[in-house]
Amino acid sequence: MLRSATPAIDLPNATASLGQATPITVHVRDQHGVRKAAAFVEQNGARYSVWQLNQPTKAADSTWTFTAGVKTTPQLRDGKATLTIEVASNDLRGKTARISRDVSVVTQPPTVSVDSDQHYLYLGMADLATLSVSGNYTQAGVRVGDQSFRAWPMPGGKSGLFSLFAFAWNMPQGTIPVVFASNGAGNDVTTPITFQFPKKEQPKYTVHDLQVSDAFLQKVVGELDPNGSGDPVARFVKINSEMRRANNKTLADLQYKTADHWLFSQPFTRQSHAQAEATFADLRNYIYHGQKIDQQVHLGYDLAVTQHVGVEASNDGRIVYAAPLGIYGNCVVVDHGYGLQTIYGHMSRIDMHEGDMVKRGQVMGLSGMTGMAGGDHVHFAMQLDGVQIDPKEWWDPHWIQDHIARRVQLPGFNAAAASAPAAEPRREHKAAAHHKRR
Ligand SMILES: [Zn+2]
Repeated sequence: MLRSATPAIDLPNATASLGQATPITVHVRDQHGVRKAAAFVEQNGARYSVWQLNQPTKAADSTWTFTAGVKTTPQLRDGKATLTIEVASNDLRGKTARISRDVSVVTQPPTVSVDSDQHYLYLGMADLATLSVSGNYTQAGVRVGDQSFRAWPMPGGKSGLFSLFAFAWNMPQGTIPVVFASNGAGNDVTTPITFQFPKKEQPKYTVHDLQVSDAFLQKVVGELDPNGSGDPVARFVKINSEMRRANNKTLADLQYKTADHWLFSQPFTRQSHAQAEATFADLRNYIYHGQKIDQQVHLGYDLAVTQHVGVEASNDGRIVYAAPLGIYGNCVVVDHGYGLQTIYGHMSRIDMHEGDMVKRGQVMGLSGMTGMAGGDHVHFAMQLDGVQIDPKEWWDPHWIQDHIARRVQLPGFNAAAASAPAAEPRREHKAAAHHKRR
């Protein structure tokens, strides 16, 4: 048994700043419980009480949340201060412990404005906004519904920030994207982005029936749930839903392994000579012996060439994942900077390691049918700050010019040179045509 001599205090979500009324959580462990606990803010030689425990407790593990800031302590001024927590144990000797944290008092919220115009938004697609933030802030970016996209300093030493963001395929139409800035002290400001949402030109995601044969079911269950037992259909559905969700979370978390600069300078490419057997955000009904057993959305392109074809990196970047990943089978993820990443699934062999740099078109391994795949193909997908998006616009040099290179420096990018016939993108809906007309 570990016996700590004094109460152990920690601040689980320690804030670096105090605003109007900033929530502070204190966690204390003491086997005898806590007799007294109090919090103070000290500034310019004065000490202000901001919270104290009303009643002693015998609990060995206690968590309290209170607020501190200008609302309850109007004497505080913008600038440096110290937050101190003091705790006395509920044992006979009443041993005490204290911790202090430097904080800044920030009474004014930041301000944020959108600098870019002409935002045309499409379900499942990306765009780029430029913004300016003034005042103290700890976080800024674009928020669409419940999804946030980071802002980054403008490349090339220019002033201001930019944010790549997506209007996700399943985002309710009518959601208004905003730029936001937060000072970490509970002050959060937003400004709506002015945008067009061309109703008639939105992609129409299609519905397909996917016949699940006994052979496919056995293959998937045997490979992805080898030690499981029970009804194979139930196991298949569990893999297809729960494992899919967990795998998508793993992919989304890779957003934190991203470069703070562009790693590419050309349009993205699509696997050479490939036939698209499925496209982005197709709704799939899984049919087994005439019964619908499941429904999922397919968030990528299924690109088939021949068996065991070399899987090509879509653009320059750095490998941030190269390992089996459940339904995606042997999977590679390439980071291209600023939270933009490409995903390659179902490979029979991976020839890369995490951390390797790759060049556009470089072969990273061989295609296959590992994971939830009934035939040899490459599952190709793209994500932006963990939100899966349709890659097709990134195959289009005109789109990149219009939406990215026009607004931020993308060194080495040349739309005219990139539109050579070999790189001519396929346009599968009218969005690209719309951009061209402007
Ligand atoms: Zn796929």
